[in-house]
Amino acid sequence: MKLQSLRGFNDVLPSETAVWQHVEQVARETFAAYAYQEIRTPLLEQTALFKRAIGEVTDVVEKEMFSFDDREGMNLSLRPEGTASCVRAGLEHGLLHNQQQRLWYAGPMFRHERPQAGRYRQFHQLGAEAFGMAGPEIDVEVIALSARLLKRLGLRDLTLELNSLGSGDSRARYRQALTEFLDRHVDALDDDSKRRRLSNPLRVLDSKVPQTQAIVRDAPSLLDAMSRDDRAHFEGVQQGLSDLGIACVLNPRIVRGLDYYSHTVFEWTTTELGAQGTVCAGGRYDGLVAQLGGQASPAIGWASGIERLILLMKAQGLNLPDAAPDVVLCPADADSARPLHQVAEQLRDAMPNARIQLSVGGKLKAQLSRAARSGARFAVVMDEAARHDGKVHVKSFAQTEVADESVAIDGLAVKLAARLNLEG
Ligand code: ATP
Ligand code: MG
Repeated sequence: MKLQSLRGFNDVLPSETAVWQHVEQVARETFAAYAYQEIRTPLLEQTALFKRAIGEVTDVVEKEMFSFDDREGMNLSLRPEGTASCVRAGLEHGLLHNQQQRLWYAGPMFRHERPQAGRYRQFHQLGAEAFGMAGPEIDVEVIALSARLLKRLGLRDLTLELNSLGSGDSRARYRQALTEFLDRHVDALDDDSKRRRLSNPLRVLDSKVPQTQAIVRDAPSLLDAMSRDDRAHFEGVQQGLSDLGIACVLNPRIVRGLDYYSHTVFEWTTTELGAQGTVCAGGRYDGLVAQLGGQASPAIGWASGIERLILLMKAQGLNLPDAAPDVVLCPADADSARPLHQVAEQLRDAMPNARIQLSVGGKLKAQLSRAARSGARFAVVMDEAARHDGKVHVKSFAQTEVADESVAIDGLAVKLAARLNLEG
């Protein structure tokens, strides 16, 4: 049997990791700018957690979880999302009762879906969760945080789609109206939707089957069934977004794929990634904390798929970082190797953020072409003559018109730092 990775489980190769680190770094800085604190939870949890949090009649729980019995016969699942674990951890450690928390997380999630571009079985999410705040200003804050993240990544042309699912009461009223509508069109629904019409009719609005999507386009709107309080909250969110200059479009079809949502729900979408066009999605989940056994606490959050963010950055032709060396030190003769090793360490002392590589093996010509191919900015060459003078040659790969420069080793770090800066 040939050993290879599992379908839908990807390696992130060295040529890609700089972009990943960049996205993670920008995310960390953006979360910090809103004073959100990181939480890290296990990848494996009791299956019961996700069943209770996400809901039994959802795609995720019905057919997408990686679940198995462990040696003690306990049913476990790889986490398909981060919110349930955050709430579980918050309850377990007493972080939620009568408190406010602003949290973020990043890491792999697992769903047994059909792999395709932008959809994998192990994928990575960045997520934010805010607990203990019921008013619309926190909805506005978490959405503004997502907007800032997307902007800082350089992404353009994204649409913020907004909806409200109202409170449980509003939804119960709406459920009635929706069920009556679906009853009238039952023959045209796909099989999953036929079943869900009875068990969880809102899920039908979220169907990915085109024929069903066409039908629910004419379904009654939840916004019409909302109470005054629900409406006031939703209007507060829209007002707050508008105050911050964040444009949105109302989309009554957004119900989200997880059952714990109430009130505000939203998605950031693009038309540039085909069917996988949602790069960030979230909403309020005021019922979840109590549903998992805690004292009721309002909450709202979102999650964004890192793979989709990167796909979109590429689709939009953004300038992506790489991890190519800044400087490659090339010994032209065997006796230059040891002194160059010392020079390399001196440069690392003097320029802690520069990427300094020592070239090992091969004739000078081969070393230089290897360095050029690696994307290095400069080569520093030591040959016999230079060595005797306590010097090296600095060669720029980016600026071929600039003549090679002979530099004293003592002044090399200062020189290189200046040129690295200058030539950006
Ligand atoms: P979709 O409608 O695309 O299946 P979802 O509603 O299931 O998404 P959420 O559970 O809200 O997604 O997850 C939040 C984000 O995580 C999505 O908007 C997307 O960017 C990303 N995501 C979800 N599932 C996957 C996956 N299988 N592969 C890659 N990214 C994913
Ligand atoms: Mg999904």
